[in-house]
Amino acid sequence: MKKKLLVIGAHSGDFVWRAAGTIAKSLEEGAQTLVVALSYGERGESGELWKEDPSRSVESVKVIRHEQAQQAADILGIPIQFLDWGDYPMLLTDQRVEQLTNLIGDFEPTVILTHSEKDPFNPDHPLAFQAVQRARLLSSGAGVPSAFKNIDPPVWYSFEPHQPELCGFVPDTFIDISSVIDKKRAAMACMGAQTYLRDYYNELASRRANHARRISGQKQIQFAEAHQRMVPRVTASIF
Ligand SMILES: [Zn+2]
Repeated sequence: MKKKLLVIGAHSGDFVWRAAGTIAKSLEEGAQTLVVALSYGERGESGELWKEDPSRSVESVKVIRHEQAQQAADILGIPIQFLDWGDYPMLLTDQRVEQLTNLIGDFEPTVILTHSEKDPFNPDHPLAFQAVQRARLLSSGAGVPSAFKNIDPPVWYSFEPHQPELCGFVPDTFIDISSVIDKKRAAMACMGAQTYLRDYYNELASRRANHARRISGQKQIQFAEAHQRMVPRVTASIF
């Protein structure tokens, strides 16, 4: 079966914190991977840049955020596309849903990884979820023949939000990222506008590995990322 992972983040740094390990692991398995950043997070997720120089222009912050995310993507060895939809607030238009639908139809992912449905601390993450939900359904014709090009419905996961309990996030899938943790750390080190998140996501990877070991008995897991599957699993075997 072909392996194609599409990671969609509302802001240009989201894929690094929440999915860089899963991305690196997918590459190890020979998967084709694409990251899409719906915006640069120039207004809402570039705090340290604004603190350094409050007189900066939004355009200059976008340039720096573009460079940082591109560096992180280069370290992971994946392509990244920037859609520049704007953030805080991000808005969803028919044109943007169509753009995302076409992108999904062109790439034909077998797995999509994106935000959780709820996030009371962020105005854009739930909107990204809605955009992906609609575009995924439109691109796959909801699994039945339709009047437009459609692909097999991709499996779809939410990656872990910053405050999972308050976002209604219940992890049901743990990815062992032990073999690629150095790549994730190197990618995180590129995100100079959000240094405060590095320690947090390092600790989280250790904590999730503890859970993964207890769930599975796989003692070798040192670092893990948690996701929540959004569609039921269809399989020929219960094993
Ligand atoms: Zn974000």
